[in-house]
Amino acid sequence: MSTVKLNPQLETIPVYTPGRPIEEVAREHGLDPSTIVKLASNENPLGPSLKALAAMEQVLRNLHLYPDGSAFFLKRKLADHLGVEPDQLILGNGSNEIIEFVGHALLGSETDVVVSQYCFAVYPIVAALFGAQLITVPARKLSHDIPAMIRAITTRTRAIFVVNPNNPTGTLVSREDISRLLAEVPPGVLIVLDEAYVEFLDDPVDCLALVRNRATPNLLLMRTFSKVYGLAGLRLGYGIGHPELIAGFEKVRQPFNINAVAQAGAFAALDDGEHLRKTRENNRRGVEFFQSNFTHLGLDFEPSAANFVLVKVGDGLRIFTEMQKRGIITRPMGGYQLPAWLRISVGTPAENERCLKALREILGR
Ligand SMILES: *Cc1c(COP(=O)(O)O)cnc(C)c1O
Repeated sequence: MSTVKLNPQLETIPVYTPGRPIEEVAREHGLDPSTIVKLASNENPLGPSLKALAAMEQVLRNLHLYPDGSAFFLKRKLADHLGVEPDQLILGNGSNEIIEFVGHALLGSETDVVVSQYCFAVYPIVAALFGAQLITVPARKLSHDIPAMIRAITTRTRAIFVVNPNNPTGTLVSREDISRLLAEVPPGVLIVLDEAYVEFLDDPVDCLALVRNRATPNLLLMRTFSKVYGLAGLRLGYGIGHPELIAGFEKVRQPFNINAVAQAGAFAALDDGEHLRKTRENNRRGVEFFQSNFTHLGLDFEPSAANFVLVKVGDGLRIFTEMQKRGIITRPMGGYQLPAWLRISVGTPAENERCLKALREILGR
């Protein structure tokens, strides 16, 4: 290895630490995997849609064939679902891949990107990968400070990343701040609005309308099938934007980045409104359950607009470790500069109960 020259930016690149897999924790603590509750990655506790599962089984016998590289049927269906045109959609291997497309299409060593403190961990990684400078704007409490983010834009800025609702804080960007963003960010800077959790909102700000009327060519919305649709293992996310922007992204995309199973599963999932309704209802109750209990226990928390709660527990890493010994996987927040906090994804009612019981035992409350 000593003679191989890796790209210099790899030396300092941050590494993404995912939620710990159930099997890994089971091995480490000698636990039965079937008893472990994973509330670490904001997955859907109800599982995937049964309609999606059935559709995916149907395509398995054709896996010797390459998938449709243009994902024609899925794109058309998704476009109808969103009220946009197929040429306004780019599909990715998770919306994580869309973030990488932004890197390929816009970033380089003479550029910078603007993010908020406590932003999604993948943005800094992608910025570093492409040699772009990261401008991190201090949060206002735990929320994006949008006016400060706009002020932080330089002549070298190519993209500004805003997450609404934000992961890991669960905070919302206000309607006024979104309007400000759209009005004040220079047209040469791409506004990436990451809406991974938008389907959990009762009254979201409708930015799709702006894509529909093509009035804001520097806006990219990002969404995913990983959260509300319960298909995180399938890896499918998408970007919605102006056809010219999308055409650029299509050039940096690998020809078969969306596999055949994902195309079939997502297509069918879009028809399962009942699964979505149950998911939202379970989530609403779960967030309410955790937050009312945190209030009761005197624990500080950030009111959540998403499918997880951020709670202040003191020594987050210690509580995470103790919870893990009891078979409950949560997410410590040290990597996000929030070492006193724990992020807990909403589970089923039984999983939430078990999680709260363990937390109370450990905290002695
Ligand atoms: C979960 C999440 C995503 C989605 O990731 P996928 O690659 O689609 O699984 C994107 N952005 C944020 C902020 C997230 O929390």
